[in-house]
Amino acid sequence: MTETSPHNGADNGEKRRHNNRLTLSIVVAIIAAIVLALAAPSAASKLHLGGEVFLRLLQMVVVPLVMASVMSGILGLGDVRRLGRPGFLAVAYYMCTTVLAVLTGLVVVNVVKPGVGIDKSLVEDAYKKGAGRAEDVSKMGGSAKTVVWDQGLTSQRTQAGPSDPVEVPHGKPMDIKLTITQIGDATAAAVATVETSSDGKEYSSLKSFDGPEQQGKVKHRLELPKDAHYVRVNFQPQEGGDRSAVAAEVIRGPPTMTDIFENLVLMLFTNNLLGAMVSVNLLPLIVFSIVFAGMLTTMGNNGDVIRSVVISINEALLNFILLLMNLAPLGIFCLVAARFGEAQQDGSLLLLLKTQAWYMTTVLSGLGVHAFVTLPLVLFLLARRSPIKFMTQMSQAVLTAFSTASSTATLPVSMECAEKNANVSKRSTEFVLPLGATINMDGTALYEAAAAIFIAQAYAIVDPSYNLGLAEQALVAVTATLAAVGAAGIPEAGLVTLLIVLNAVNLPLELIGLVLPVDWLLDRFRTAVNVFGDAVGAAVVDGAFEAAGEQSPKPAPQPAG
Ligand code: ASP
Repeated sequence: MTETSPHNGADNGEKRRHNNRLTLSIVVAIIAAIVLALAAPSAASKLHLGGEVFLRLLQMVVVPLVMASVMSGILGLGDVRRLGRPGFLAVAYYMCTTVLAVLTGLVVVNVVKPGVGIDKSLVEDAYKKGAGRAEDVSKMGGSAKTVVWDQGLTSQRTQAGPSDPVEVPHGKPMDIKLTITQIGDATAAAVATVETSSDGKEYSSLKSFDGPEQQGKVKHRLELPKDAHYVRVNFQPQEGGDRSAVAAEVIRGPPTMTDIFENLVLMLFTNNLLGAMVSVNLLPLIVFSIVFAGMLTTMGNNGDVIRSVVISINEALLNFILLLMNLAPLGIFCLVAARFGEAQQDGSLLLLLKTQAWYMTTVLSGLGVHAFVTLPLVLFLLARRSPIKFMTQMSQAVLTAFSTASSTATLPVSMECAEKNANVSKRSTEFVLPLGATINMDGTALYEAAAAIFIAQAYAIVDPSYNLGLAEQALVAVTATLAAVGAAGIPEAGLVTLLIVLNAVNLPLELIGLVLPVDWLLDRFRTAVNVFGDAVGAAVVDGAFEAAGEQSPKPAPQPAG
């Protein structure tokens, strides 16, 4: 089902040799970079600048490329209605493979059980260290793609008695977060009681929390009842010792399923097209491009100029990427050397392998099954293509994904490889790959399911009452799927959305500290799987595009030359 593009002429053999050379150079660059990082970490980390330049060059073309290619894809179809069947197939493919990935993640993590035997001190340590980091992570992705819920109204108290009341916003579930601080050791701990009221006059006590007896801090979080319109904290300072204080913050409760769903719908639209371009918010740009190009197809001769400009820009950008690819071995060498060098320098590389080896093995095995068994089977059964050949054809994109840890930054390379090396039809690459890079993340979905269960297994060591039943596993599966759709194609975006999964099954967000140290490394592997999954999707949906294209009354105008 391959299409012979005009680029595939007599020089096919020469092109293949050039491609093989390029892939080989990238592989050599990655190996050499890792060796350099292990042997001379400080020198390797200085290559950061070169890596950053390459990354920026790739990222620079993403927005114009996505808009031009989606538009030119629709123009090629001649009528936006012909997108119907292939579009439906693409979304069905994304959903099915994401669910398969999540199931693989769940099976592997339940079989290997990497969290079960973990050292208790590691969990307690992660809990302590993770507190601040969970908040940092939840604030990390401030874009429309994340649900940020930590923003609150604060009150602080050191004296005995009730604090001033705080009005609780209506309409959304709200939590109260308490931090009780003890300065100097006490003989009896401070006690903070949360009191709520529906009218602001009569308060009743909801729950009391003890502070620490020794110098230190404890944090508590409590869901507020729906009829609580006012809340205050009644404080009973410590006995003996220096001083104690309580800080209370009324914050949005964890996002509900409705919140997550609403967020996903809103992700499709923007109120500011230029703003979406500036923040590389691709989904609304894709929606706009489809509608705009669809409209162009109905304008007859009046739209000719814009049509041929769009198609020429698209061609020019693809040629630009071809040029960029010649820099890939050098850019990738710098990117990988700098990141691994940094890890080696702060000693985390060896530490990871010692403490997190089982967890890493679990995630990598799951990703391996998905990339080497599930996706090849899908490719073979649905697209009738040789998986090995296809992997070779897409290898530059997969290696770039590993090196950049960003599917968005890899998009230009994926499009180039799919169209020029794997001969996936232009119509399919132009539409399926940009959409896939934004919403289809098999590796991320698998990772989030495995990481959440790993954290649950580890948490059960410190809190044996925590029970991870079938219902919770199902909830992990659903939220991991949605979270992967919502994750941006940027480095470590999966960490931000992992908080949503942890929340859904009532796991302490602080325990993100358990997976944080290895995330930068696992991110590279899951991004590679994300990108490969998108490419398989483009090959699978290819046939439907060909069928739709054949009904096209007139071929799209091609630029001269
Ligand atoms: N880095 C991944 C990507 O760009 C997203 C993730 O963090 O899982 O595809």
